[in-house]
Amino acid sequence: MSLTQTREIAAASRLEHVRYAIRDLACVAKEVTDSGHAILPLNIGDPLNFDFQTPAHMIDAVHKAMRDGKNGYAPSSGIPEALNAIRGEACRKGITTIQDVFVTSGVSETVDVCLAALLNPGDDLLTPCPDYPLYSAVLAKLGVGLNTYYLSEDNGWQPDLDDIRKKITSRTRGIVLINPNNPTGSVCTRQMLEQIADLARRHNLIIFADEIYDKLIIDDDPHVAMAAAAPDVPVITFGGLSKNYLAPGWRIGWGIASGDTSLVKPYLEGVNKLLRARLCANHPEQYAIKSALEGPQDHLIEVKRKLRSRRDLTMKWCNDTPRVSCVAPRGAFYAYPSIDIPEGDDAFVTELIRQKYVMVVHGSGFGQRPGTQHFRIVFLPDEKTLASAYSAIGDLLRERYA
Ligand code: PLP
Repeated sequence: MSLTQTREIAAASRLEHVRYAIRDLACVAKEVTDSGHAILPLNIGDPLNFDFQTPAHMIDAVHKAMRDGKNGYAPSSGIPEALNAIRGEACRKGITTIQDVFVTSGVSETVDVCLAALLNPGDDLLTPCPDYPLYSAVLAKLGVGLNTYYLSEDNGWQPDLDDIRKKITSRTRGIVLINPNNPTGSVCTRQMLEQIADLARRHNLIIFADEIYDKLIIDDDPHVAMAAAAPDVPVITFGGLSKNYLAPGWRIGWGIASGDTSLVKPYLEGVNKLLRARLCANHPEQYAIKSALEGPQDHLIEVKRKLRSRRDLTMKWCNDTPRVSCVAPRGAFYAYPSIDIPEGDDAFVTELIRQKYVMVVHGSGFGQRPGTQHFRIVFLPDEKTLASAYSAIGDLLRERYA
C-alpha cells in the first residue's frame, strides 16, 4: 500500500517576525513586470545594477586564484593573506587593539555568526530604528525579541542617546551601530561614538560597528571607526567587498574584533566555533581582499564623484517638492526623505510601483517613529534616470494627494 503524507510542513513560528521589506516588494513588482512594464529599481543597494564596475585588478586576482587551483575549502577564519590585509586596513583606520580577524560570506554572514555567538534566549541587543532589516531578521531567527533605539531625524539622524539609555536593560548584551547608515545616509560624529562607547563601558556591552560603507563618505570628511574611538571596548567592526569595492555578488565580508583581550576572549572562542561549523567563506574570492585593500583605490574617486552629483540632484528634488523633506545624506548611497501624506508609506510605495513603475522602499519596512512616513531611495542610477524617477514620484504625490 502506498502512503501519502497529509500534514503540511509548517515553517517555524519564530519566522513570523522576519521581515525583509526590500525583497518583499518583489511580489508587487512581479505583477507589474508580468503585465509588460520595466521597473526602475531604486530599492536595492547594488551598484552593479547601474554604471559601476568591479575594479579589474580584483577580478584578475580571483581569476588567477581559480586557475591556480584555489577551489577547495579555505581555512575557517579565512586565508592568511586576506587576514593580514584586513589587519593592515584596520591599523590604517587607527584600530590598535585587534584581537581577531575573520572572513565570512558577506557581512550578512558576519552578522549571523556574531549575533548567534552572543545571544541567549531572553537576552536583547539594541538595534537602530530605522534599521537595516538583516538585524531584525537574524534576531527573529535566534528567537530574540527586538529592542530598538531611535535615530533622530531632527539631529541629522544621529543615534538618540537618551533613547539608548532608556532602552538598556539587565539583559542587554550589545548595541548595533550602522555608520555610515543605511537607510538614512548619516555619518556619526566622533563625539557620538565616544558617548556610545561610554554607555558600552558602563553597561558591559559589546558594540557591533557595521562600517560596510566606510569608504563611501560623499563629501570627503573623515570616517572615524568606532573601534579607533574606543580601543578598550569590545567592538566587532564589520567590513567587506560588497559596497566599497563594488563586488556584492562575491559575498565577501569580514569582522575585526578589538578591545581588551580579557574581555573578548570567551566570546571570540564562540565566534570561531561557529566559523568552523560552517566550514569557510568563498575561497577564490578571498584572493581579491588583498588586491582590493592594498591595490589601486582609483575607482573610489569616480564612485564618489558620481554619488556626490546624484546626492545633490536628489536633495534638489526633495527641497523643491511639496510634501517632501530630507536630511542630506553624507555617506553610502541612500536618501531617506520624509513624506507628509494622509496614508501609510507602504500604500504610497505600492502605488508608485503599480502606476509609475518606480520601486523604492517604504519607511515602515525599516521601522520608524510612530506618526512619521518615509521612503528610502537608492540614488545609484545616472542623473537622467534619477531625474525621470523623481518626476514620476512627484507626479504621483500631486495626483494622489492634490
Ligand atoms: N550591512 C549593511 C548596513 C548593509 O546595507 C548591507 C547590504 O546592503 C549589509 C550589511 C550586507 O552586506 P553583504 O553584501 O556584505 O552581506
